[in-house]
Amino acid sequence: MAYSIGVDVGGTKVLGGVVDSEGNVLARARRDTPRQGGSALTQAIADVALELKSDFEISSVGISAAGFVSSDRKTMLATPNIAGWNGVNLDAELTSLIGLPLVIENDANAAAWGEARFGAGIGEDHLMMLTIGTGIGGGVVVDGALYRGAFGIAAEFGHMRVVPEGHLCGCGSRGCFEQYASGNALLRHAREAISGSPEMARNLLSLGDGTVEGLTGKHVTEAARDGDAVALAAFNTTAQWLGAGIASLSVILDPACVVIGGGVIDAGEILLEPTRAAVDRYMPFSGKHPSPVIIAAKLGNEAGLVGVADLARI
Ligand SMILES: [Zn+2]
Repeated sequence: MAYSIGVDVGGTKVLGGVVDSEGNVLARARRDTPRQGGSALTQAIADVALELKSDFEISSVGISAAGFVSSDRKTMLATPNIAGWNGVNLDAELTSLIGLPLVIENDANAAAWGEARFGAGIGEDHLMMLTIGTGIGGGVVVDGALYRGAFGIAAEFGHMRVVPEGHLCGCGSRGCFEQYASGNALLRHAREAISGSPEMARNLLSLGDGTVEGLTGKHVTEAARDGDAVALAAFNTTAQWLGAGIASLSVILDPACVVIGGGVIDAGEILLEPTRAAVDRYMPFSGKHPSPVIIAAKLGNEAGLVGVADLARI
């Protein structure tokens, strides 16, 4: 059996794996992500793939990375978080280094495909995934296929505008969804809850260095698990925004299943339960049609690797 390699380019590491046709990861290799990006990063990807290639019969390679990928899946059109990759034809550079056919895919798209094929959404032909970390990434499966759009930038849910002239976003726009429903937004909501009732926030702040600035998402999750009212309020506010956004997206995409991944999903039902209630509350034509099932991702930080290895195969 021929296998494919998936390589996921993250902010701190380049993680590769040999993946079989059932989505099992048979071997792994990794390198630190070179800060300077550009050709050093391209070489790190090649090193990971060549290391894995030496022990297996490999048919193709998939690369998953943050950024806009051309619809022919060869060129990084724009990479706001990776230096020196804008407009780079990765296919041309990496094919000569690795010696195998390859495809490039946006990381959130790859994760959605991994979850749809082998993870939480297995068997679902109509699926939407939101990867919620510092921002919100998105991926959509329509009629059993990944939907990329005309320019390869579909499903950037994090940057749909939900508040005209709202909070400034890293994309240069204002009022983007991820400013209200991401992991960073959870922290923003926690800080606002703390300033509203500082005496109730003593428990939450004691988990960090005692300051509002020292608070992290992990602290908020830990406090919410212990029933801390301020932390739970921050999760509930985040869930309101998240549920309202999912309801609006459902009217457009009509998914059967919405998979939530990324660091924020460590909170599990603390986030999902109020999000489901908010989806029902904000769903247009409420009660007239079924809401999508909303579940946690299963593949963790290997979803992109497994998904892009499978996309390279088909
Ligand atoms: Zn934005």
